[in-house]
Amino acid sequence: MTQQADIVLRGGKITTMALGSSAPETVDSIALLGSEVLSVTDAEAHIGNGTHVIDLKGARVVPGLIDSHVHFIRAGRTWNDEVRFENLYSLKDGLHALAERAASQKAGTWIRVIGGWDEHQFAEQRGPTREELDQVIPNHPVYVQMQYDYAVLNSLGLKTLGITTETIDKTPLPEGFEKDSEGSITGKASGMPLMTWFYRQLPAPSYDEQVESTVALSHEFARLGMTGAIDGGGVNTGPEAYAAVYEAWRQGRLKTRVRLFKHATRAGTEQADYAGYLRFGSPRFGDDILRFSGIGEVIMYRTHDRIAAPADYGEEAMAETREVLLECARKGWTVQIHVHQREFFLKLLDLWEEIDSIHPINQLRWSFVHAESTYLEDAERLKKLGAGLLFQSLLRYNGEYAVEAWGADRVAHSPELADLWDAGVPIGLGSDAMRVASYNPFASLEWFLTGKTVRGNKTLDEKYLLDRHRALRGYTQVGAWFTHEENVRGQLVPGQYADLAVLSEDYFTIPTDRIHTLTSDLTIVGGEIVWDSGALHH
Ligand SMILES: [Zn+2]
Repeated sequence: MTQQADIVLRGGKITTMALGSSAPETVDSIALLGSEVLSVTDAEAHIGNGTHVIDLKGARVVPGLIDSHVHFIRAGRTWNDEVRFENLYSLKDGLHALAERAASQKAGTWIRVIGGWDEHQFAEQRGPTREELDQVIPNHPVYVQMQYDYAVLNSLGLKTLGITTETIDKTPLPEGFEKDSEGSITGKASGMPLMTWFYRQLPAPSYDEQVESTVALSHEFARLGMTGAIDGGGVNTGPEAYAAVYEAWRQGRLKTRVRLFKHATRAGTEQADYAGYLRFGSPRFGDDILRFSGIGEVIMYRTHDRIAAPADYGEEAMAETREVLLECARKGWTVQIHVHQREFFLKLLDLWEEIDSIHPINQLRWSFVHAESTYLEDAERLKKLGAGLLFQSLLRYNGEYAVEAWGADRVAHSPELADLWDAGVPIGLGSDAMRVASYNPFASLEWFLTGKTVRGNKTLDEKYLLDRHRALRGYTQVGAWFTHEENVRGQLVPGQYADLAVLSEDYFTIPTDRIHTLTSDLTIVGGEIVWDSGALHH
């Protein structure tokens, strides 16, 4: 007796990402039963009276996308309070979005944009001025931040924070306020200390609001075909930051498979925070939706480097890092470490090899995050350690900035992506969103295929770029490997989770420079439809 499927999608181009011969690379129909894939070879044979049949009309279907390094938790807490510019390509549209939000909020409510965009994505090649914000949104305080570069406030925003040209010199505010030729503040301000100060001034959402925001972010992920996220914590993201996602999960409203990598709250709390995580937590605790998968991305704050700013990898800093990592290895934890600079990368590789000789880590899937300074010559050492690499499309916004810091020649092979892939090092792809990059997986995929910044500059050499199939595999099947789940998700084959996205256009044939315009028309997580654009009329 043939099992009756709950859902059958047919008449499409379904990319299974199947490994080996477990299933054909592409099929035209798929049957889902409960939370799993039932069949991709005789799907229509499983249609029964109770089966929900969806005609795909030739649409492309891919496994649910997994962003393998994104700051989902931090952004989820404030998502509903923010306007997002990621998917807008003109300042005019940006101002319109701000005005629209203001119109739906009572006067005096803060209107804010917290990173995730770059002024060069806009046709106007610039961000808003104070004058434009005043004109479009006079009755709401407005704060618009571009990555960690600068922020612009409107006059009511400045007034609400008590900031005037007179006051800023008298108050202990961080440096960074821009002044015009007459010495008056313009409303623009720059520098991380000032950004951090602004965050603290902006009204914080209540617990319930944080839960609703987290659910809304999960919904937005589904709209873009994402069914999974590996969260890397983030600066100031300590234990209290996780309350909202746990509540959304308890309520059964979290529709993204979130895998948590946790780290210390801030410099100085490392030892206490890790002792707590490692004593009470156990590796990979959780269910198929929410799981505490490991430690990272920051181990010791003093080693937290940037592309243009090496950090402290001195003896003491490395000794402190060693102590935490040794304990992680001893207790079987997966670790993901943020690294930009080659010096730090090589020191960590030495340290991992030393730790591996004490407590083997080659089954723990430790990985380097960002790791632009990784080359083919490192592949054998990484493979011996069973280690992986998590690359993000950071340079889509910051390619020119990296060229300034490292020079075009070095950036052109940072990283040697295709070579490392061919050498067999597991490579997961992602965004590092929500402040310094766009969370849009298709904008991210476009970067891995073109190496082009939003200004149109190609910074990564053609020969290191991925083709469409490998890039998609890095955003699906390989992403699951980093949390020991390659046997249950990332592929559309029988027995794996029924996580998939029906795309608005065909990822494999759409012109490369239009890939960022793709969305999902139907997203399914564990057999449940979590996003439906209505385009399929099923
Ligand atoms: Zn990072």
